[in-house]
Amino acid sequence: MSDGIEAFLPRITDDSRPFWDGIKEGRFQARRCRPCGELYFPPHMICPFCFGNELQWVTLCGHGTLYAFTRMWAVPKPFRSRVPYVVGVVDLDEGLRVFAKIQGAYEDLTIGARVEFVPELLAAEVYLFTFRRSVVKDERA
Ligand SMILES: [Zn+2]
Repeated sequence: MSDGIEAFLPRITDDSRPFWDGIKEGRFQARRCRPCGELYFPPHMICPFCFGNELQWVTLCGHGTLYAFTRMWAVPKPFRSRVPYVVGVVDLDEGLRVFAKIQGAYEDLTIGARVEFVPELLAAEVYLFTFRRSVVKDERA
């Protein structure tokens, strides 16, 4: 890679590898703390509620509601060929809030729209979690 994008790739560690492998395989995961039972994201190594480290991976349903979104024009150099693109805040059905790229046209989005998780290839073997407007109407739409 020589376009500079490597500076923006996720730093995958032994601890975070299950998360990134899950993205690649189409699973969006958070962590649940065994002692206190809280579900949280991003999936840090330490529970942000009780500082416990007995954690388990939980696969989320991948559906949520678009809380806010905006169109990006001023971006780091490696992403300039991709502008404009949309980023947004998604309230997942499990109650977690996630910031992510939103696929699709800005004009097709509305606050409150149902969205679903979709992995996007960023670089060789590196997939990001993104969302797009739900293709299939789900029961909460
Ligand atoms: Zn905890």
